[in-house]
This record gives sequence, structure tokens and C-alpha cells, in this order.
Amino acid sequence: MPRLNHRRLLVIAAVLLITGVIYAAVWTAPTVLRNKCVGCGDCSKVCPTGAITIIREKAVIDAETCIKCDLCVRTCTYNAIQGKARKF
Ligand code: SF4
Ligand code: SF4
Repeated sequence: MPRLNHRRLLVIAAVLLITGVIYAAVWTAPTVLRNKCVGCGDCSKVCPTGAITIIREKAVIDAETCIKCDLCVRTCTYNAIQGKARKF
């Protein structure tokens, strides 16, 4: 197994950073369908980055914090969150 020296770690970090930047540039955060949301909070409990807040009984997604994993989409039993979409 190859040793992980500093140069390899730097290359891996750079690749991860570039991949993240490209991913963020291509995908939008999911959208909450306010007419379907009942404010149960299930989506905010599973969100790994804490990007979802319940405000006046509706889920609100902070696009800056969201990493577009779509876990909230799969969790919402009311189908109140539309998954990420490509920006172009
Ligand atoms: S899980 Fe669905 S219904 Fe519940 S707060 Fe989130 S978006 Fe609204
Ligand atoms: S897509 Fe992932 S990170 Fe973004 S709001 Fe949903 S659960 Fe949170």
C-alpha cells in the first residue's frame, strides 16, 4: 500500500476541493413546496449540515449551508421537498 506523504495529501485535498466547487456550481439546493409542508421537522433532523430551519411551520433551506445530498427529499413523507436541480 502506498504511503500517504504530504504531497499526496495535498493532491487529495485539492481534488476534493475542486470536486466540491464544481458540484456546488452545477447543482441548486432542493426546494420546499410550501403548500405541502406541514412543518413536522423530520427533514431538519436528518440534514447533516443543519441547513433546514422550521419557520412559521414551514421548512426553510439555507442554500449556502446545503451540500445538496437530497437526504431531506428522501425523508419527507409529505413529498414537500423537490430534489436538487442542475443550474444549467
Ligand atoms: S419533512 Fe417535509 S413536511 Fe416535514 S418539515 Fe420537512 S418539508 Fe415540511
Ligand atoms: S440536501 Fe442535504 S444538506 Fe441540503 S438541506 Fe437537504 S438534507 Fe440538508
